Amino acid sequence: MRNRTSIQLDLLLPRIAAFAIGTLLAALPGVAQPDPAYKQHAADRPKPPVVNPGGLGRAPSDAIVLFDGKDLAGWCSMDGTAPKWIVKDGVMECVQGSGMIRTLQSFGDCQLHVEWAAPIPPRGQGQGRGNSGVFLMGTYEIQVLDSYQNTTYADGQAGAVYGQYPPLVNASLPPGEWQTYDVVFRRPRFDGEGRPVSPARITLLHNGVLVQDGAAPSGPTTWMRRPPYRQHLDKLPLSLQDHGNPVRFRNIWVRELGSDAAQKEFSFSTALLDRYVGTYYYDPLMSIVILRKEEQLIMKVVSPGGEADYPLFAESETKFFTKLVDCSVTFRTNAQGVAEGLAFVMGGDTRQAKKIK
Ligand code: MG
Repeated sequence: MRNRTSIQLDLLLPRIAAFAIGTLLAALPGVAQPDPAYKQHAADRPKPPVVNPGGLGRAPSDAIVLFDGKDLAGWCSMDGTAPKWIVKDGVMECVQGSGMIRTLQSFGDCQLHVEWAAPIPPRGQGQGRGNSGVFLMGTYEIQVLDSYQNTTYADGQAGAVYGQYPPLVNASLPPGEWQTYDVVFRRPRFDGEGRPVSPARITLLHNGVLVQDGAAPSGPTTWMRRPPYRQHLDKLPLSLQDHGNPVRFRNIWVRELGSDAAQKEFSFSTALLDRYVGTYYYDPLMSIVILRKEEQLIMKVVSPGGEADYPLFAESETKFFTKLVDCSVTFRTNAQGVAEGLAFVMGGDTRQAKKIK
């Protein structure tokens, strides 16, 4: 005779099985609806934008061209002053001792294309031969090195996430030949308290060969250390390393990815930012104080409601915006570029404020 428990199990087991199968199916890729807002093959689903893919030496039509062989207009030294690398015959070349260079524009998630060539004839050995580097967000280095018949430690050769991930294979061409890096980069994410919630992700094709497959650095890359993540901005400039070797670069372009593409951001020198620091008067009830904290301007709005600070992000040399409030300031400058006033735009209303000190 069946007892009570077995009868209950008989009733329950098919339900558990159905639930388990349903859960399994939902978890299988391709079974769950990718976007519940659309039926499969929906005719009204927006079509992807048309992009001319470019080709050898030509960037895709929607890319931001960072270097097209003409000049270093989009670049500066790390302190924001003019870059000291040279441009000749359509390529840029690192000048020993001139320091790293960086882009004026800042990037987070992105697709990046870089072409580079190690010096010929080759000089030096190991890390001393054709060394440079592509620093995503100025922080995460993809090693550039002449790794053609040149032995060094695995996590320091061409295509390595420096000091952390060796390339999957060595796809290097001989020195003097142009080599390509195609990168898909996802920036690290931080929570409201500045703790890392997901690491950076780096996928890299070296000369068309996969050498990094979603590598997740443990933090900034550096020599003989693995420091942990420290909170940084969502967008930061891209930089190229001066490691003392005349490595050449050409045809550099980037495409911003995801929501990061919505708003262009630039990072200017502290000398330029200091031209805007001061107190601006609107009316007896409201004034705006512009401060500089390291490499960022802070806008302090003083009103009867109290005081509040807003970090400012550069959209151009004179126009800055805030991220959580729909607000921008555009500085009016004199012939020397020093601010005399600003236009404060919030929620569509414009207020002109005069600099008083
Ligand atoms: Mg390097």
